[in-house]
Amino acid sequence: MTSIRFDFRSDTVTRPTAEMREAMNAAEVGDDVFGDDPTVNRLEGRAAEMLGKEAALFVPSGTQSNLAALMSHCERGDEYIAGQEAHCYSHEAGGAAVLGSIQPQPIAHQPDGTLALADIEAAIKPDDMHYARTRLLALENTLGGRVIPLDYVRAATDLARRHKLSTHLDGARVFNAKVALGVSVSEIAAPFDTISVCLSKGLGAPVGSVLVGNAELIAKARRLRKMLGGGMRQVGILAAAGLYALENNVARLADDHAHAKVLGQGLSRFQALHVAPVETNMVWVDVDPEIASELNAYLAANGVGLTHGYAGRRQRWVTHLDLGPEAIDGALAVVAKFFD
Ligand SMILES: *Cc1c(COP(=O)(O)O)cnc(C)c1O
Repeated sequence: MTSIRFDFRSDTVTRPTAEMREAMNAAEVGDDVFGDDPTVNRLEGRAAEMLGKEAALFVPSGTQSNLAALMSHCERGDEYIAGQEAHCYSHEAGGAAVLGSIQPQPIAHQPDGTLALADIEAAIKPDDMHYARTRLLALENTLGGRVIPLDYVRAATDLARRHKLSTHLDGARVFNAKVALGVSVSEIAAPFDTISVCLSKGLGAPVGSVLVGNAELIAKARRLRKMLGGGMRQVGILAAAGLYALENNVARLADDHAHAKVLGQGLSRFQALHVAPVETNMVWVDVDPEIASELNAYLAANGVGLTHGYAGRRQRWVTHLDLGPEAIDGALAVVAKFFD
C-alpha cells in the first residue's frame, strides 16, 4: 500500500504538535468522575465562557456528545427533527434510536443546506396518541463545510421555540463557521439550548468534544455520559490538549479556509472536475463519471488521500493544520500530471 503524502481525508487526521504535547505533559490531573480534575474543570469553564453558556461537559467524542445531548432533551418515545445529512442522524450508527429510544424525523435539505421552515413545521406532530412527541430540533453548522446563515438559524430556532421544542446545534466545526462569518462563537451558539463542539477536528486536539448548555441540561448530560461509558479519570492530560486548541488554534482556521480556496481554484482548472463553492475547509468536487474511478485510483497510488462517495463521482478534500501551502501545491501537481 502506498503511504499517504498529502492527507485530505479529514481534519481528524491531525497530530498533536510539540507545544500541545508539552501542555499535556504539564497538565494537573485528578479523578474527573469525582469532579477532581482541575484541567478538565478549566476546559469546561473556558468552553462555557467562549460559547456564552452556563456549563460544559468534556466527552470523549462528538458522537457521544450529540447522543448525550439528544438524550438530555428527549425521553424514550420522543422524536427529534434533523436533516437527512445531519451527522447525528446519518453518521452515528443510529445511536439516538438504539440507545436513547428516540425516533429521528429526518428532513430533506434545501440546496443551501438549510431545512425549509415549512418542512420543519409540517414535521412537528400534534399532541395525539398516534404520534411520537416531537421534542427537539437539531441543526448543524458547518454542514459539510457549508456555513448555515445566522438569520436562517434564528428563524428556525424561533419556530422551534414557538412549538415548545428544544434546540441543539451539532457544532463539530462551529469554529470554522465562526471564522468564516467573522462573528463571536457565542453569537452562533446563542439561539441554541445545547451545542456540541469537536476539539479533535480542525482545532487539532487528539481526542474530545465539549457539550455546552445550561446547568440543568449539562447535569443531565453528565449522568448520561457516565451511563454511556464516557466517565474518564485523570483525563486532564487530554483536556489540556483541548484547552491548548481553544486558546491557540481557532484564528488559524482562516489558513485552512484559504488553502481550501486555493485548492478549489486549482482543481477547477480541469474541465472534468466541477468544484462547489468553497466556504470553509472542505472542497467538494464532482468528477466526470468516465474518469472518476481511474482518477481516484491514481490519486491513491500517488499518495493523495481523500474520501469519495456516489460511486467515486464526488470527492471530498478537507484542509487542516497539518497541511501547509506546499501540500496544496503538491497535491495539485499530482492532479495536473493525471490530466497531462
Ligand atoms: C465528526 C463529527 C461528529 C462526531 O465526532 P466524533 O468525535 O468523530 O464522534 C459529529 N458531528 C459532526 C458534524 C462531525 O463532523
